[in-house]
Amino acid sequence: AAVPFTAADVAPRRTPRATPEAPGAHPGGADARFANAADTDPAVAEHRAWAGRVTSRGESGYRPVQAAAVPDRAAVDAAVARAVAAQHVWGAVPAPARAAALHAVAERLEERRGELVAAMVHEAGKTVAEADPEVSEAVDFARYYAHRAEALDAVPGAVFTPEGVTLVTPPWNFPVAIPVGGVVAALAAGSSVLAKPASPTPRCFEVAVAAILAGLDDAASATGLTAAQCADVVQFVRVRDRDVARHLVTHDDVARVILTGSIETAELFAGWRPERPVLAETSGKNAIVVTPSADLDLAVADLVRSAFGHAGQKCSAASLAILVGSVGDPSTPTGERFRRQLVDAVRSLRVGPATDLATVMGPLTEPAAGKLLRALTTLEPGESWLVRPHRLDDDATAAGLDPQRLWTPGLRTGVAPGSFFHLTEVFGPVLGLMTARDLDEAITLQNRVAFGLTAGLHSLDDDEVATWCDRVEAGNLYVNRHITGAIVRRQPFGGWKASSVGPGAKAGGPHYVAQLGAWSDGAGVP
Ligand code: GLU
Repeated sequence: AAVPFTAADVAPRRTPRATPEAPGAHPGGADARFANAADTDPAVAEHRAWAGRVTSRGESGYRPVQAAAVPDRAAVDAAVARAVAAQHVWGAVPAPARAAALHAVAERLEERRGELVAAMVHEAGKTVAEADPEVSEAVDFARYYAHRAEALDAVPGAVFTPEGVTLVTPPWNFPVAIPVGGVVAALAAGSSVLAKPASPTPRCFEVAVAAILAGLDDAASATGLTAAQCADVVQFVRVRDRDVARHLVTHDDVARVILTGSIETAELFAGWRPERPVLAETSGKNAIVVTPSADLDLAVADLVRSAFGHAGQKCSAASLAILVGSVGDPSTPTGERFRRQLVDAVRSLRVGPATDLATVMGPLTEPAAGKLLRALTTLEPGESWLVRPHRLDDDATAAGLDPQRLWTPGLRTGVAPGSFFHLTEVFGPVLGLMTARDLDEAITLQNRVAFGLTAGLHSLDDDEVATWCDRVEAGNLYVNRHITGAIVRRQPFGGWKASSVGPGAKAGGPHYVAQLGAWSDGAGVP
């Protein structure tokens, strides 16, 4: 049944959360659930119980943020000028007080969990099972970067100076965790922030910014800032016009841009700001290799979770499975069983609107077009469908969604080396199967793509694991695990090759905050 996600007036839900000693406490990981697990999973049961309590709208205790779009260049100039003034104040706040403020921010994000989840369900089409752990990830970022702020003071003989006004421009696929991660990193470093939402998901970031401002207010006695000063330390800057966006990105007083988005956007921004800092995490075309030594049941579950969580709209998602030897040969008992299980698992995914709590795979955030539409509708030479995707027009219409947003998952086989589907990021619910003679050939296929974000291996053979880890070219390697849902601190997240533009430390890792400033001894990031 559809759940009326209209508001946030729910009692804060206590979940395990990060501490400096044990960050990354996601209930179940920021990831989708395998269809058959959904009914028995305690976290899913809890989402259901919680959702039933969402009944009314409650905004008390939060200042509204500026939701209207910044109309023109003059308004950008005014916002940047306020950010510069706020920078002088915030940059002078000692690191322990900044850390205290970030812990208060974490509390406020927890408090607004219900509204953040509701915004993600409605704006991004995220299922509750995906959106709830995303709030946990945002909380983890705030707590972990608080801890890293304190570490800035602990380098003997070196003084850290924040870069200054930082523009945070996140993507729409993680519309809470990634924006919050960027904002709290900049705050931890002592920089003021301009928070620009992705155009499909402004409400998600707006609610998060409101919680961040409430946290800064809460910590006023530690930081000494007035409410008016806090409001200029983090400004919500919604931009609709490309010319205005360019003015913001290229502004002389914007010291740093933190971008997560497509490779196209990253290259555009880098071109707009030659020689000036842009920290960009971009696209991926990620594969999981499965060898005959693997636990095949686990491999199937992890493939489905990695490929179809949030309908495949993750930079980290698995888009390819590279099947080694008998695993990829359906004329062998191993290959036959693997294929049958994978097809069954993909078919079992329940697709529907995200407001329906029974949904396992929700809608696309934006109507399928371009490369994704091609991947959903067209086979390349030598390929065939094991599970053919189709639109659920009636369900989409009933839920008030554009029909191009609601697709069942696709599984294609026979993907040829060097083909469109081998090399192109499509960012949606299609998994392609490739075969390799041996591990060596599988690694060659995996490394042939331009991107290098995540990569997976399913193998229970130690030599295979060692060889693969040594040679595979990706930022995040996962062995015998799904390849999405990196956990703050435990699995710092960032790409290699074309998946990253400009040098940069990984998000959720020990050096991320320390790179957002200058060190007096010239030693760079400790
Ligand atoms: N950090 C996310 C993960 O590990 C992916 C972020 C993205 O898609 O940009 O799944």
